[in-house]
Amino acid sequence: MEVNFWNPEVETMERSQLEALQLKRLQAVIGYALKTPFYQKRLSRAGISRPEDVRSLQELQKIPFTVKDDLRQNFPAGLLAVDMEEVVRIHSSSGTTGVPTVIYLTAEDLNSWTDLLARSIITTGCCRKDIFQNMMSYGLFTGGLGLHYGAERVGMTVIPVGGGNTQRQVQLMRDFKTTVVHVTPSYLLHIHTRLAEFGVKASDLHLRRAFLGAEPYSENTRLKLQELYGIDAYNSYGLSEMNGPSVAFECVYKKDMHLWEDAYIVEIIDPATGQILPDGQKGEVVLTNLVRHAMPLMRYRTRDLAFLHTEPCPCGRTHRRLSRIQGRTDDMLIINGVNVFPSQIEEVIMAIPEVGTNYMIHLTSAGALDKLIVKVEIYSKMFTGDLNSLDALKGKIRDRLRASITINPHIELHEPGSLPVFEGKAKHVVDNREKL
Ligand code: AMP
Ligand code: ZN
Repeated sequence: MEVNFWNPEVETMERSQLEALQLKRLQAVIGYALKTPFYQKRLSRAGISRPEDVRSLQELQKIPFTVKDDLRQNFPAGLLAVDMEEVVRIHSSSGTTGVPTVIYLTAEDLNSWTDLLARSIITTGCCRKDIFQNMMSYGLFTGGLGLHYGAERVGMTVIPVGGGNTQRQVQLMRDFKTTVVHVTPSYLLHIHTRLAEFGVKASDLHLRRAFLGAEPYSENTRLKLQELYGIDAYNSYGLSEMNGPSVAFECVYKKDMHLWEDAYIVEIIDPATGQILPDGQKGEVVLTNLVRHAMPLMRYRTRDLAFLHTEPCPCGRTHRRLSRIQGRTDDMLIINGVNVFPSQIEEVIMAIPEVGTNYMIHLTSAGALDKLIVKVEIYSKMFTGDLNSLDALKGKIRDRLRASITINPHIELHEPGSLPVFEGKAKHVVDNREKL
């Protein structure tokens, strides 16, 4: 397989050198953090009043975690470490889980972020000849402008269409022979259900790759998309607090995502105790941004659950790989006392060939018990009027889910295109249980 590098020296750096670079950058970040009252207080309590007070990477552990609430409480500018006139860009998180938070970037920060995205793009095998259609929404959300700048730096032809308007997306893909898209997996699934309406087959398109991110999805969803479009789909992970996409990206081997360790320090912790877990164990991802000075964030608890791979990657990059996000500490559902992550449900249903491209998880109360209803779209060829085969399919989906999550779900089958469509981040769970 052909492996291309954007910055070969950094991407294949030996571990000891990489750690030396991390330490140097960490000290610089501490210098900036000390300019904010928030971190000044926290760092001084940890015995750090100058950058040199942190002499090794291990000493990072003296610094307390930063959580989303710290950002909210210091909104809008309590974590700003430079003069406002140094700031060239503001981004904001989507605010789906409460009050939005804000992120500031200097020109140098923007340059570092763009460079990481150019690196990520080249890592997937794309090049300047590609026609890149960015279907992520532009604006305060980081998926639009972030990848846009990265793609331009690579020299790709960028179509900055943003999210939504499926007919136009398809038209643009045809007119300009788009080869790469950046999109949420749920929206790319949806586009597929609409192709026939526009008289287009997936094979009429010139798509070769997709960057998929911004929301949790299963390996089976990736496989489904690869098959439906005949493409290679790469996982991309990031969050606005850490700039946005650019934290971790898959290489051509697609063995999970290289986390760019020259730019981020990653720790995996036990979310209950805060203890650091060894590589390979699943826990909460904690990140420290090493290349943003306008707004340093140290040991930020992402709430995302994942693990780090230990074995080397055949591509030769030395940066450790982050697993697919397995859920969030705050999206776990407790159904009749059993812990279930929505991702477990998706993994099972997307492996069933008759299941189409969309699903919803509903929770209601039935007396003292919780009722789990899984609604799945199935391909129209399944609606032949043969009720027995539909019943058999329902039974199959129910049995496979029960085997995985130990709860007996109620299954509803729906026609393609009938469940809610999300052009940005999908919300597959509706919890209408009565709160006691
Ligand atoms: P935002 O800050 O609005 O960009 O949202 C970031 C969050 O989106 C992350 O903390 C994850 O929960 C989720 N996310 C982003 N990329 C992925 C991905 N590739 N897989 C799973 N979840 C993701
Ligand atoms: Zn690799």
